[in-house]
Amino acid sequence: MNAMEDRIFTARKITPNTYVITGTGCDSYLLLGDESAILIDSGMSKRNLKEFCQTLTDLPFAGVINTHGHGDHTLGNGWFKKAFMHPLAVEDARRGFGDLTGYPTDYDIETVEEGQIFNIGNRELEIIYIGAHSLGSIAILDRTYRILFTGDELDPGQVLCNMNGEKSPGQTIENHQRNMKKLKARFDEYDIICPAHNGTPIDKTYVNDFIILDQMIMDGVPGREDISSPTLPFKRPDGALRQNYKCAHICYHPNTIFED
Ligand SMILES: [Zn+2]
Repeated sequence: MNAMEDRIFTARKITPNTYVITGTGCDSYLLLGDESAILIDSGMSKRNLKEFCQTLTDLPFAGVINTHGHGDHTLGNGWFKKAFMHPLAVEDARRGFGDLTGYPTDYDIETVEEGQIFNIGNRELEIIYIGAHSLGSIAILDRTYRILFTGDELDPGQVLCNMNGEKSPGQTIENHQRNMKKLKARFDEYDIICPAHNGTPIDKTYVNDFIILDQMIMDGVPGREDISSPTLPFKRPDGALRQNYKCAHICYHPNTIFED
Protein backbone atom coordinates (compact mmCIF):
# COMPACT_ATOMS: atom_id res chain seq x y z
CA MET A 1 0.00 0.00 0.00
CA ASN A 2 1.15 3.54 -0.64
CA ALA A 3 0.85 6.29 1.91
CA MET A 4 -2.59 7.30 0.65
CA GLU A 5 -4.02 3.80 1.00
CA ASP A 6 -2.62 3.45 4.50
CA ARG A 7 -4.57 6.39 5.84
CA ILE A 8 -7.71 5.78 7.85
CA PHE A 9 -10.90 7.77 7.56
CA THR A 10 -11.92 10.00 10.41
CA ALA A 11 -15.12 11.99 10.79
CA ARG A 12 -15.73 15.15 12.73
CA LYS A 13 -18.99 17.04 13.09
CA ILE A 14 -19.00 20.61 11.82
CA THR A 15 -22.70 21.09 12.46
CA PRO A 16 -25.21 18.58 13.88
CA ASN A 17 -25.91 17.27 10.36
CA THR A 18 -22.59 17.91 8.58
CA TYR A 19 -19.42 15.86 8.90
CA VAL A 20 -15.96 16.50 7.50
CA ILE A 21 -14.26 13.23 6.60
CA THR A 22 -10.48 13.20 6.40
CA GLY A 23 -8.13 10.54 5.12
CA THR A 24 -9.70 10.49 1.68
CA GLY A 25 -7.08 12.71 -0.01
CA CYS A 26 -9.11 15.87 0.45
CA ASP A 27 -11.62 17.04 3.00
CA SER A 28 -14.88 15.32 2.04
CA TYR A 29 -18.17 16.48 3.51
CA LEU A 30 -21.12 14.31 4.41
CA LEU A 31 -24.36 16.30 4.42
CA LEU A 32 -27.46 14.82 5.99
CA GLY A 33 -30.91 15.98 4.96
CA ASP A 34 -34.26 14.75 6.23
CA GLU A 35 -34.61 12.37 3.25
CA SER A 36 -31.14 11.56 1.95
CA ALA A 37 -27.42 12.06 2.39
CA ILE A 38 -25.00 13.54 -0.13
CA LEU A 39 -21.22 13.61 -0.14
CA ILE A 40 -19.22 16.59 -1.37
CA ASP A 41 -16.01 15.20 -2.97
CA SER A 42 -15.09 11.54 -2.74
CA GLY A 43 -11.31 11.83 -2.43
CA MET A 44 -8.93 9.23 -3.82
CA SER A 45 -8.80 6.41 -1.31
CA LYS A 46 -9.01 2.80 -2.48
CA ARG A 47 -10.81 1.96 0.73
CA ASN A 48 -14.60 1.87 0.57
CA LEU A 49 -15.67 5.35 1.61
CA LYS A 50 -19.36 4.60 1.33
CA GLU A 51 -19.09 1.83 3.92
CA PHE A 52 -17.46 4.32 6.24
CA CYS A 53 -20.20 6.91 5.59
CA GLN A 54 -22.80 4.29 6.41
CA THR A 55 -21.37 4.03 9.91
CA LEU A 56 -22.47 7.66 10.33
CA THR A 57 -25.97 7.57 8.82
CA ASP A 58 -28.74 5.19 7.78
CA LEU A 59 -30.04 7.60 5.12
CA PRO A 60 -30.04 6.59 1.45
CA PHE A 61 -27.34 8.30 -0.61
CA ALA A 62 -28.22 10.71 -3.43
CA GLY A 63 -24.60 10.43 -4.64
CA VAL A 64 -21.52 12.63 -4.70
CA ILE A 65 -21.24 16.26 -5.76
CA ASN A 66 -17.74 16.99 -7.00
CA THR A 67 -16.41 20.52 -6.52
CA HIS A 68 -14.26 19.86 -9.63
CA GLY A 69 -12.80 16.97 -11.60
CA HIS A 70 -9.32 16.51 -10.10
CA GLY A 71 -8.54 12.97 -9.06
CA ASP A 72 -8.06 13.76 -5.38
CA HIS A 73 -11.74 14.81 -5.34
CA THR A 74 -13.31 12.24 -7.69
CA LEU A 75 -11.52 8.87 -7.60
CA GLY A 76 -13.83 7.58 -4.87
CA ASN A 77 -17.01 8.42 -6.85
CA GLY A 78 -17.57 4.81 -7.84
CA TRP A 79 -18.32 3.76 -4.25
CA PHE A 80 -21.47 5.90 -4.50
CA LYS A 81 -22.55 4.89 -8.04
CA LYS A 82 -23.62 8.43 -8.97
CA ALA A 83 -21.74 11.72 -9.23
CA PHE A 84 -22.90 15.24 -10.01
CA MET A 85 -20.37 17.64 -11.50
CA HIS A 86 -19.92 20.56 -13.88
CA PRO A 87 -19.62 19.55 -17.57
CA LEU A 88 -16.03 20.84 -17.65
CA ALA A 89 -15.11 18.47 -14.80
CA VAL A 90 -16.12 15.23 -16.52
CA GLU A 91 -12.95 14.62 -18.54
CA ASP A 92 -10.66 15.11 -15.53
CA ALA A 93 -12.86 12.91 -13.36
CA ARG A 94 -12.83 10.04 -15.84
CA ARG A 95 -9.04 10.30 -16.31
CA GLY A 96 -8.10 10.58 -12.63
CA PHE A 97 -4.34 10.73 -12.30
CA GLY A 98 -3.81 8.23 -15.11
CA ASP A 99 -3.55 4.89 -13.33
CA LEU A 100 -7.07 3.86 -12.28
CA THR A 101 -6.04 0.48 -10.86
CA GLY A 102 -7.93 -0.29 -7.66
CA TYR A 103 -10.37 2.60 -7.94
CA PRO A 104 -14.11 2.03 -8.44
CA THR A 105 -14.70 3.54 -11.90
CA ASP A 106 -18.19 2.25 -12.64
CA TYR A 107 -20.57 5.11 -11.89
CA ASP A 108 -23.02 7.46 -13.60
CA ILE A 109 -22.33 11.14 -14.09
CA GLU A 110 -25.04 13.78 -14.13
CA THR A 111 -23.89 17.28 -15.03
CA VAL A 112 -24.99 20.33 -13.06
CA GLU A 113 -25.45 23.95 -14.01
CA GLU A 114 -25.30 27.38 -12.45
CA GLY A 115 -28.17 27.99 -10.05
CA GLN A 116 -29.26 24.36 -9.85
CA ILE A 117 -30.75 23.38 -6.48
CA PHE A 118 -30.46 20.04 -4.74
CA ASN A 119 -32.96 19.34 -1.99
CA ILE A 120 -32.06 16.40 0.25
CA GLY A 121 -35.03 16.93 2.56
CA ASN A 122 -35.40 20.35 4.17
CA ARG A 123 -31.85 21.12 3.10
CA GLU A 124 -31.21 23.12 -0.07
CA LEU A 125 -27.88 23.18 -1.89
CA GLU A 126 -27.23 25.64 -4.72
CA ILE A 127 -24.58 25.29 -7.43
CA ILE A 128 -22.46 28.38 -8.12
CA TYR A 129 -19.92 28.21 -10.96
CA ILE A 130 -16.43 29.45 -9.92
CA GLY A 131 -13.93 27.86 -12.36
CA ALA A 132 -10.30 29.14 -12.23
CA HIS A 133 -8.01 26.65 -10.40
CA SER A 134 -9.99 24.17 -12.49
CA LEU A 135 -12.42 25.25 -15.19
CA GLY A 136 -14.85 22.65 -13.88
CA SER A 137 -15.09 24.16 -10.39
CA ILE A 138 -18.32 24.85 -8.55
CA ALA A 139 -19.06 26.17 -5.09
CA ILE A 140 -21.96 24.61 -3.23
CA LEU A 141 -24.03 26.95 -1.09
CA ASP A 142 -25.96 25.23 1.67
CA ARG A 143 -28.80 27.74 1.80
CA THR A 144 -30.46 26.08 4.76
CA TYR A 145 -27.48 25.78 7.11
CA ARG A 146 -25.51 28.74 5.71
CA ILE A 147 -22.32 26.94 4.72
CA LEU A 148 -20.28 27.61 1.55
CA PHE A 149 -18.20 24.74 0.14
CA THR A 150 -15.43 26.06 -2.09
CA GLY A 151 -13.33 23.08 -3.25
CA ASP A 152 -9.85 24.19 -4.34
CA GLU A 153 -10.81 27.73 -5.40
CA LEU A 154 -10.51 29.15 -1.88
CA ASP A 155 -8.62 27.46 0.95
CA PRO A 156 -6.39 28.51 3.85
CA GLY A 157 -3.22 26.85 2.47
CA GLN A 158 -2.77 28.13 -1.03
CA VAL A 159 -4.87 28.27 -4.17
CA LEU A 160 -3.04 27.01 -7.26
CA CYS A 161 -3.97 29.06 -10.31
CA ASN A 162 -2.38 27.89 -13.55
CA MET A 163 1.20 27.84 -12.28
CA ASN A 164 2.49 26.46 -15.59
CA GLY A 165 1.75 29.74 -17.30
CA GLU A 166 0.13 28.22 -20.40
CA LYS A 167 -2.67 30.44 -21.67
CA SER A 168 -6.05 28.97 -20.81
CA PRO A 169 -9.11 31.23 -20.85
CA GLY A 170 -10.64 31.34 -17.38
CA GLN A 171 -7.57 30.07 -15.56
CA THR A 172 -6.37 33.53 -14.62
CA ILE A 173 -6.07 35.72 -11.55
CA GLU A 174 -8.48 38.17 -13.17
CA ASN A 175 -11.12 35.48 -13.44
CA HIS A 176 -10.38 34.11 -9.97
CA GLN A 177 -11.17 37.57 -8.62
CA ARG A 178 -14.39 37.73 -10.65
CA ASN A 179 -15.42 34.45 -8.99
CA MET A 180 -14.51 35.70 -5.52
CA LYS A 181 -16.65 38.79 -6.12
CA LYS A 182 -19.49 36.49 -7.09
CA LEU A 183 -19.13 34.74 -3.71
CA LYS A 184 -18.87 38.14 -2.01
CA ALA A 185 -22.22 39.10 -3.54
CA ARG A 186 -23.77 36.21 -1.58
CA PHE A 187 -21.98 37.14 1.65
CA ASP A 188 -25.14 37.44 3.75
CA GLU A 189 -26.21 33.89 2.85
CA TYR A 190 -23.41 31.93 4.60
CA ASP A 191 -21.57 32.06 7.92
CA ILE A 192 -18.62 29.71 7.36
CA ILE A 193 -16.57 28.36 4.48
CA CYS A 194 -15.61 24.71 4.10
CA PRO A 195 -12.74 24.26 1.62
CA ALA A 196 -11.34 20.95 0.36
CA HIS A 197 -7.84 21.17 1.86
CA ASN A 198 -5.71 22.70 4.60
CA GLY A 199 -8.20 23.14 7.42
CA THR A 200 -11.91 23.58 7.93
CA PRO A 201 -14.15 25.38 8.61
CA ILE A 202 -12.68 28.83 7.98
CA ASP A 203 -13.91 32.37 8.39
CA LYS A 204 -15.83 33.81 5.47
CA THR A 205 -13.67 36.93 5.49
CA TYR A 206 -11.21 34.87 3.42
CA VAL A 207 -13.38 35.90 0.46
CA ASN A 208 -12.45 39.55 1.05
CA ASP A 209 -8.78 38.67 1.49
CA PHE A 210 -8.66 36.75 -1.79
CA ILE A 211 -10.27 39.66 -3.64
CA ILE A 212 -7.55 41.98 -2.29
CA LEU A 213 -4.84 39.39 -3.02
CA ASP A 214 -5.97 38.96 -6.64
CA GLN A 215 -5.97 42.75 -6.99
CA MET A 216 -2.41 43.01 -5.62
CA ILE A 217 -1.23 40.55 -8.26
CA MET A 218 -3.08 42.41 -11.04
CA ASP A 219 -1.59 45.69 -9.78
CA GLY A 220 1.91 44.26 -10.24
CA VAL A 221 2.98 43.75 -6.63
CA PRO A 222 5.96 41.38 -7.10
CA GLY A 223 5.40 37.76 -6.10
CA ARG A 224 7.92 35.47 -4.41
CA GLU A 225 9.54 32.21 -5.50
CA ASP A 226 8.97 30.38 -2.18
CA ILE A 227 6.55 27.81 -3.53
CA SER A 228 8.11 24.52 -2.45
CA SER A 229 6.23 23.26 0.55
CA PRO A 230 5.35 19.88 2.02
CA THR A 231 1.79 20.30 0.81
CA LEU A 232 2.82 20.58 -2.86
CA PRO A 233 4.16 17.24 -4.03
CA PHE A 234 5.72 18.58 -7.20
CA LYS A 235 8.53 20.83 -8.39
CA ARG A 236 7.84 24.53 -8.76
CA PRO A 237 7.09 25.22 -12.44
CA ASP A 238 9.54 27.65 -14.08
CA GLY A 239 8.52 31.21 -13.38
CA ALA A 240 5.72 30.38 -10.94
CA LEU A 241 5.30 32.78 -8.02
CA ARG A 242 3.53 33.01 -4.69
CA GLN A 243 1.74 36.04 -3.31
CA ASN A 244 -0.26 36.47 -0.14
CA TYR A 245 -2.52 38.91 1.63
CA LYS A 246 -2.91 38.07 5.32
CA CYS A 247 -3.51 34.29 5.36
CA ALA A 248 -4.76 34.08 1.76
CA HIS A 249 -2.10 32.67 -0.62
CA ILE A 250 -2.11 32.08 -4.37
CA CYS A 251 0.51 30.36 -6.51
CA TYR A 252 0.32 31.68 -10.08
CA HIS A 253 2.35 32.51 -13.17
CA PRO A 254 3.01 36.03 -14.52
CA ASN A 255 1.84 34.92 -18.00
CA THR A 256 -1.65 34.10 -16.83
CA ILE A 257 -2.72 36.99 -14.64
CA PHE A 258 -5.09 38.56 -17.19
CA GLU A 259 -7.72 37.09 -19.46
CA ASP A 260 -6.79 38.77 -22.79
ZN1 LIG B 1 -7.92 20.70 -7.64
